[in-house]
Amino acid sequence: MPDYLSQSVQYLKSVGPKRADSFAKIGIKTIKDLLLYFPTRYLDRSTILSSIKILQYIRDGYDGEVTIIGEVVAKDLIRYGKKQIYKVRMKDGGGYFECVWFQGAKYFKEIFNQGEFYAVSAKPVLTKYGHLQFVHPDFDRLAEKESKEFMHTGKIIPFYRVPKDLRAANLGDFSLRRIINNAVDNYSEKIQETLPEHIVSQKKLLDLNSTIKNLHFPDSEDTLNTARYRIKFEELFYFECMVALRKAIIKKKRKGTAYKIHSEPLKIFLDSLPYQLTTAQLKVLSEIRKDLESEEPMNRLLQGDVGSGKTIVALISMLIVITNGFQAVLMAPTEILADQHFKRLSKMLEPLGINVSVLIGGQKKSERTRILNDISTGSTKLIIGTHALIEENVEYDRLGLIIIDEQHRFGVVQRSKLIRKGIQPDVLVMTATPIPRTLSMTIYGDLDTSIIDEMPLNRKPVKTYLRGENKLNDVYKFIVDKSKVGYQAFLVYPLVEESEKLELKAAETYFNDLTENHLKELNVGLIHGRMSWQQKENVMLDFAEKKYDVLVSTTVIEVGIDIPDANIIIINDAFRFGLSQLHQLRGRVGRSDKQAYCILITKNEFAVKTNQFNFRFDYLSEEQIEKNKSIIRLNAMLKYSSGFDLAEVDLKLRGPGDIFGTKQSGLPELKYADVVTDYNLLIEARDTAFEIILDDPSLSKEKNSVIKKNLKENFSNNILLSQIA
Ligand code: ADP
Ligand code: MG
Repeated sequence: MPDYLSQSVQYLKSVGPKRADSFAKIGIKTIKDLLLYFPTRYLDRSTILSSIKILQYIRDGYDGEVTIIGEVVAKDLIRYGKKQIYKVRMKDGGGYFECVWFQGAKYFKEIFNQGEFYAVSAKPVLTKYGHLQFVHPDFDRLAEKESKEFMHTGKIIPFYRVPKDLRAANLGDFSLRRIINNAVDNYSEKIQETLPEHIVSQKKLLDLNSTIKNLHFPDSEDTLNTARYRIKFEELFYFECMVALRKAIIKKKRKGTAYKIHSEPLKIFLDSLPYQLTTAQLKVLSEIRKDLESEEPMNRLLQGDVGSGKTIVALISMLIVITNGFQAVLMAPTEILADQHFKRLSKMLEPLGINVSVLIGGQKKSERTRILNDISTGSTKLIIGTHALIEENVEYDRLGLIIIDEQHRFGVVQRSKLIRKGIQPDVLVMTATPIPRTLSMTIYGDLDTSIIDEMPLNRKPVKTYLRGENKLNDVYKFIVDKSKVGYQAFLVYPLVEESEKLELKAAETYFNDLTENHLKELNVGLIHGRMSWQQKENVMLDFAEKKYDVLVSTTVIEVGIDIPDANIIIINDAFRFGLSQLHQLRGRVGRSDKQAYCILITKNEFAVKTNQFNFRFDYLSEEQIEKNKSIIRLNAMLKYSSGFDLAEVDLKLRGPGDIFGTKQSGLPELKYADVVTDYNLLIEARDTAFEIILDDPSLSKEKNSVIKKNLKENFSNNILLSQIA
């Protein structure tokens, strides 16, 4: 049988060599490639409303989004001073309506033409003249015939992405639809099933042929959903097979230590705490405890939003290990944070008579030698420091546990480096970078995950505002007033200067201006990146001891710093910061039972625009995202306080690859499944994959041969696979 599927698309009806070249430019070479080029959206008749119906809806008080189909009757570019407004008037069977753009007039002007048909989706509004209006709607172009047929037959219309390269070859929405329709009719039956029969039947999945047909031209919303389900399942399943294989291989190679729980010192310690652990902290601790008690090495990710109390969990875990005669290491991302941990933890452990060592830059040579000696002889059991702890030639006596604090991007490579260092140390990675659950499953897929999903009881959400620079005087006055009742404030300014020298100068200028003018009645400290960590630490300590009311700072305070009485943070030029950075900065305040405030400052105009900007985060079009990134970021800060919510917005803005660095994190580039919204499916695919790999780690059973074949085809350059072959 000839291999039709790997033939060039040029042999398809109305393609030919020239269009085939354009297809090739977007990665579609063969007929199979085209069959796997799925629509990005669909239009379903049951979701379309007429203008009459929509007016009725508005009157009834409904305010959700609607879709309407109409024909363009006129378009208008209206100038208001410097601004341009673009209006498109349309009609459907019931009457007239209009679409309006306040931005991007130039772009939209090219798109709409009189007599063309569009499906338009947005939240409807009534103008003051009673006209039905859609502001910045999403839209899709339809052929006249399609739009008419559609209303009669109730078919679902697919929409494909039509990149520039295709448009250049005169391929538009309709012609692409026709070509694909044709290919599906003639060739989709020839594609071979890519999941083993036992999974298809056990999971009641649609077979691959019907899946492809239905993704392109679904008969109904139901069949579309079953097809979508199948393709996503398959994608996640194969990805999780790789994760399961990795885990299986690591397990085979390592054996750890089973620790005993000595409850007496733990009890003394817990009783000495000024607060009760939260339920979430206790839950996480019991998960860690189970790991430590078992012989299998712990390999756990601990997630907890900023301020959720991860440090104490780390400390208790370390106590378990050191009371077994082993060493435990706590690694912080910065020296100042390592030192903060050191000071706090030593104090807390004093009553137990436990020594803590800290290894950081800037220590005297003699001191360093002594500490290194203490570590290698085992006379010190609890060691705190930075990355240097694993990267330099530090020798341990009996390293049992490594805890990595506030690790934003902790690659697989670094992790294995650690593992090689100790005997078979248990590893706990702690992060406040809110990684959506699904992402942590994939990035840290071979780690078990614990989540602190609750804040200590006494916390109130931080009140967040966005103000223009013209309000700065009020903001300073607010700081002065609040300082009278014991509030301290961080004043953050972004680094805008290229060179360190200029940066320092900018910091000093800003600082001088504040101390001489707006904040002259207050004590103001300054901290910046050019200071040594000891200098920074001294300023921090002074701030913690309330020698300053205000601390002017660059983003050096971003991570981990814990000063419970600082309850105001002002972030200048807030639009310059990334979302997770803003969240981290805001996390410096709100660490006590006092009401905390975060005030974001931007240019006036920008502040007004952002405060007005109104959209739904779950329905952002690419267009909106592209145009309004910084507005969306700041708006999200006003709307959400949870790091997880913010992370999902961030994920929409930047994409997972950008956030975590696809290569180093091992994050998959998923085409069909959405790491954020398809959580349940991911779990199901994961369970299925793990069950199969556990039962047949070398995939040598006949019933799994399809899996092996597909893994080899699709992950051919992965070294793991050489180990199962
Ligand atoms: P993060 O998770 O951001 O590292 P920390 O461990 O620094 O948070 O804890 C933030 C603050 O909350 C600290 O001042 C800590 O003492 C306090 N804290 C931790 N757990 C509790 C609790 N259960 N109840 C009250 N305060 C707590
Ligand atoms: Mg912390």
